[in-house]
Amino acid sequence: MSGRIPLPIDTVLPALADTLRTHNTVVLSAPPGSGKTTRVPPAVADLVGGRVLLLQPRRVAARACAHRIAFEDGSRVGTRIGYHVRFEKVSNINTKILVLTEGMLTGMIQNDPFLDGIDAVILDEFHERSIHSDMALSMLAEIVADVRPDLKLIIMSATLNAAPIQAFFGGPEHCPSITASGRCFDVAIAYRPVDKERWLEPQIAAAIQDAIAQDNTGHVLVFLPGVGEIERVRTSLGNLPPNVQVLPLHGRLSAKAQDLAIANSATQKVVLATNIAETSITIDGVTTVVDSGLARRPRFDQYLGMERLELVPISVASADQRAGRAGRTRPGRCVRMWSKPNHSLRAAHDVAAVQLVDMTPSTLALYAWGTTPAAFRWFEAPPEASVTRAKQLLQELHAIEGDTITGLGQSIAGLPVHPRLARVVLRGQQLGVLHQAAGAAALASERDPWPSATEGDLLTRLDWMDQPGNTGANPRALTAARLVRDDLIRLSRRIGDRSPQDTPSSDNPILSALIAGFPDRVGRKRSIDSREVLLASGVGVKLAPAAQVGEWMVAITITAGPHKRAPLIRVAATLNPTCLVTSWAEEVFFDKNKEAVVQRTVRRWGAILIAEKPSPQQATPSDIARVLEDAARPRVNRLFPLDGPEKRLLARLRFAARAHPDEAWPTWLAEPTVLLNEWCMGRRSFAALKKLDVAADLLGRIPWDLRKKLDQIAPERMRVPSGSMVQMEYPVGAPPVLAARVQQMFGMLKTPTLGGVPITVHLLAPNGRPTQVTSDLAHFWANSYALVRKDLRGRYPRHAWPEDPSTAIPENRPRKKRHR
Ligand code: ADP
Ligand code: MG
Repeated sequence: MSGRIPLPIDTVLPALADTLRTHNTVVLSAPPGSGKTTRVPPAVADLVGGRVLLLQPRRVAARACAHRIAFEDGSRVGTRIGYHVRFEKVSNINTKILVLTEGMLTGMIQNDPFLDGIDAVILDEFHERSIHSDMALSMLAEIVADVRPDLKLIIMSATLNAAPIQAFFGGPEHCPSITASGRCFDVAIAYRPVDKERWLEPQIAAAIQDAIAQDNTGHVLVFLPGVGEIERVRTSLGNLPPNVQVLPLHGRLSAKAQDLAIANSATQKVVLATNIAETSITIDGVTTVVDSGLARRPRFDQYLGMERLELVPISVASADQRAGRAGRTRPGRCVRMWSKPNHSLRAAHDVAAVQLVDMTPSTLALYAWGTTPAAFRWFEAPPEASVTRAKQLLQELHAIEGDTITGLGQSIAGLPVHPRLARVVLRGQQLGVLHQAAGAAALASERDPWPSATEGDLLTRLDWMDQPGNTGANPRALTAARLVRDDLIRLSRRIGDRSPQDTPSSDNPILSALIAGFPDRVGRKRSIDSREVLLASGVGVKLAPAAQVGEWMVAITITAGPHKRAPLIRVAATLNPTCLVTSWAEEVFFDKNKEAVVQRTVRRWGAILIAEKPSPQQATPSDIARVLEDAARPRVNRLFPLDGPEKRLLARLRFAARAHPDEAWPTWLAEPTVLLNEWCMGRRSFAALKKLDVAADLLGRIPWDLRKKLDQIAPERMRVPSGSMVQMEYPVGAPPVLAARVQQMFGMLKTPTLGGVPITVHLLAPNGRPTQVTSDLAHFWANSYALVRKDLRGRYPRHAWPEDPSTAIPENRPRKKRHR
């Protein structure tokens, strides 16, 4: 203890202790390096009787802080201070401070909902907002509220906005916030944008070489998006001064290699790291940070229905966090491989994982815990669509029924892999192929031990997994996969067989097990020699060049296609369609070629048709009508242009409805195609729809008394003095129009009215062209007629042009007598 150097956090530890005596929850913010991770857990442990849990976002961080705290404590790791990460439990029953990765807590709560013996939980680096830490926060809050009012929660971060967390716990009076100042030196920022036309890695290597040339004492920490980039930068670095060590740091390395990168070093080193070095681990003596500005984040792909890693520009908050790594021991500098204008375009903060990731595992964890996604008090709610999708998949896996977890669902939740893979393992166990099924699950969840150009048949890989000889596998990855497999075998034996027994199985158990977990990933080639595959989910994908499989398959590994092209199946297992246990079903559908509703009997697996035959029985008329309507709806204007006699009827109805809005005019008046569903009744093809007499149909829908009113308000024809019934026009937004020859109108002295407005009269010359348009016939006869008569009498001598039209006999056609 005497060797402990003073750290900024020490000054707030008494205040923290005071607060925890009177409050359950507290938010603690202090800059990186101020001592949160190393000093807060021991301080809390001194305060409470039971065990203290410290949650870390990653395994490497969990191990590193356990070692650091134990070092300051002067004890051996695994005694007073221990840690639990997957496959590594270093602790004993007296362990007072236990460091865990965030994901482990959910499992722990599952086994012990009261968290017996645990008196405090510290959530470190909460600002990273992984789905696990979000879940942990909400679950812990619920445990405190319901069953453990004495449990202390400490939420820590360097760059934390405390207010939302305080609000979540009911405000600052329930959840005080403590802030400590830091001990950070200035970091000079330089922008050195990469040329996007050239490879990234040599440009980063050049930046590293320049940094070493400028300062040959401090360490250089380089942030890269992934293992591939780390390896390529390492290759590009070439000749460095002989005393400079280059060390990778990422999640796939052995613990020993990770420790080597983190350990103190007297000579200069270049650490090529992924995001895992951004927070929580301390690499002493870093003075230069080179930041690629990129990270890979898991994101749920709605189209494929699965999660995959996406290369994204990091946020400003992340970039600041990374830069801060250079100012821990003395002033430093940070080289950003992007431009200043680009920097100003970046998001302020990263989007929380809960918005992006596949919610299936966490949704099942909630059900297993005894709640539902709707009832759960999220710190930040996930998008509704992703929960809906998750529930749908869990139903397909028989893990839940409605909003209730099944016995099988409980078992699935007990295995530390994605629910799909857990289902494969449990089904495999039931069918007597546990070893293979667990192997498949391990290969699918861990890093692929074989290079991506290797044979993509899953069953071949399962064989290789058991072969002692050289199959071209990466030994570390293969060991990891075997470890996961053996763990799954052990766990599922303990859980026992709770799969529903009635699920039918094929004669090939391992394929049946795979299908149970990936029912939507069954695929069929578009044709026998095609590389294009239709998945049961309805999505189209392609086979990667190395994936040699038969016509039918279950696709296990699918990756994004290059340049936004179709996604690629990398690993799949060939199926015999007899493995797809499904029964015949009647199907009524619209045949696009026949433009008609067709009925047949089919066997299908999701979107994939397995077999078909003619249907023995008739579908109900309403089923047929519904299918026809669905097909017709998008083309309704082409099928029903409404330009025949119905056009006239509609014009009359609309005029009448405008003139007398109080009458009960039909509601379809504005848009008669709303009647499509009724028009489809009793029909099964577009041809039949086209034959429909729309005018007659519409007229038939108007009740008798209303039809009489229509005839009064907007008659189809009007009698003119000559005795003819002349057709009326009802233009939109104008008075009705009556068009008749002048001679037919002799004697009509006043303009008739319809719907309260005078109609417009088109007085036609004998050739049928209007010579006058008027809404005032009296005025026409008195004034304009004389001019019209003068003008047309010579041209049309056979027609009557009397001087006094008011007393003249109207005529429909010229009388013969004038011929003589
Ligand atoms: P915080 O969690 O606030 O970021 P830490 O508790 O991780 O801070 O570290 C506090 C200080 O302890 C660091 O600034 C550093 O001086 C020292 N330290 C932590 N871990 C190590 C280590 N592995 N080697 C050397 N010094 C360390
Ligand atoms: Mg820390």
